[in-house]
Amino acid sequence: MEPILSRNFNVADAWKIGIAESRGSYATAKKVLTSSKPEEVTNSVLASNLRGLGGAGFPTGKKWQFLPKDPPAGGGSASGGKPVYLVINADEGEPGTFKDRYILERDPHQLVEGIIISAFAINSHKSYVYIRGEYVRPFQRFQAAVDEAYQKGYLGKNIFGTNFQLDIVVHRGAGAYICGEETALLNSLEGLKGYPRLKPPFPAIVGLFGCPTIVNNVETLACVPHILKNGPEWFAKLGSAGNGGTHLFSVSGHVNKPGVYELPMGTPLREIIEKHAGGVKGGKKLKAVIPGGISAKILTAGEIDVNMDYDSLRNAGTMLGSAGVMVMDEDTSMVKMLYYATKFFSHESCGQCSPCREGTGWAHKIVRRIYDGRGSLKDLDTLLTIARNMEGRTICVFADAAAWPIQSYITKFRKEFEDWITKDEGRKTKDENADNLRPSSFAHRPS
Ligand code: SF4
Repeated sequence: MEPILSRNFNVADAWKIGIAESRGSYATAKKVLTSSKPEEVTNSVLASNLRGLGGAGFPTGKKWQFLPKDPPAGGGSASGGKPVYLVINADEGEPGTFKDRYILERDPHQLVEGIIISAFAINSHKSYVYIRGEYVRPFQRFQAAVDEAYQKGYLGKNIFGTNFQLDIVVHRGAGAYICGEETALLNSLEGLKGYPRLKPPFPAIVGLFGCPTIVNNVETLACVPHILKNGPEWFAKLGSAGNGGTHLFSVSGHVNKPGVYELPMGTPLREIIEKHAGGVKGGKKLKAVIPGGISAKILTAGEIDVNMDYDSLRNAGTMLGSAGVMVMDEDTSMVKMLYYATKFFSHESCGQCSPCREGTGWAHKIVRRIYDGRGSLKDLDTLLTIARNMEGRTICVFADAAAWPIQSYITKFRKEFEDWITKDEGRKTKDENADNLRPSSFAHRPS
């Protein structure tokens, strides 16, 4: 397959506008702005089966169509006289996921072009790009790309000689995972605490500063110029039914060739691990795989014959999520993996909802007790009860995401948890330094 989103990733200095333009950047935006109508762009995106590639998988064109259409009584614009904002979620914080970073760092003009076309489609003249605070070089490269685009007249007023105007503001986050949730991100942009908002109203109706707002992920908008250039049918055919295009899969853990792989939507998980990522490191056996970032339910080695798209993984009882594929070999301790997962979620809960704030905290304390060799078999059922009471009862899906690793690790690897609790080697440690263990050491049991 010819690379599409990643076609410039290994081209030297492709983040500079001269190189990017020599490889075709901005030609599609110019053509669209000078010869298409906004609704034609939306219809193309809708027909392409492009879905939100940040994790939610919601059809992008449909999301755009949620913006208010009918002019209010007494006249005015469709948005009731309010501006429409396009917000780009570049707060890539899901553990095991590092694909948007590649676009921001290696081909930022691809994203700028996608923003120009998408803003044109939804009649937005101001776009905010919210970049994860820890992403220093991606921020620098993207800001430089925005500056270059202004100098060339591709941003600002009268873009490509048309009446269309667009400004991009680049905003850096301050390190909270929850700000990757779209409404928490909007609060953060407004200068408020990064608390998720109750929905409805959805951002398309009441979003940034109370105005209609579309929030899209980096990779999602990077696809838009390719859809407009090659046609929606071409894009839809690249992927599987209802899941258009390709996807950047971040592959990490115990594989010979970890990295970012651009592959068609629906590529079998086994193929990603064994062919593209070079198989399990050191010739060891595969034990488990998390297919979509730490929030996704774990798959055992016997469950990897599944296609990597939203619908296939949902049918398999897990999710594509952010497409962060985390591979674990036979020596990986599931107790330790759950220890890290619960630690992460208890630390990152924003604390608004009791089931999440208390549930993630108690779950981590109990898993820590098990991990330290002070657990009891009863703890496993207590953990499952806590997880069940976190699901579907909170403002945002963070609590569900925190519950899924608990449920899937204990259900699928219960014997290992029981052995850890009851056998000597499971109880021998009281690891005072557990909080200092590095994720790269998760393969080893404490000694
Ligand atoms: Fe905050 Fe958790 Fe409630 Fe989401 S579910 S709003 S992260 S407390």
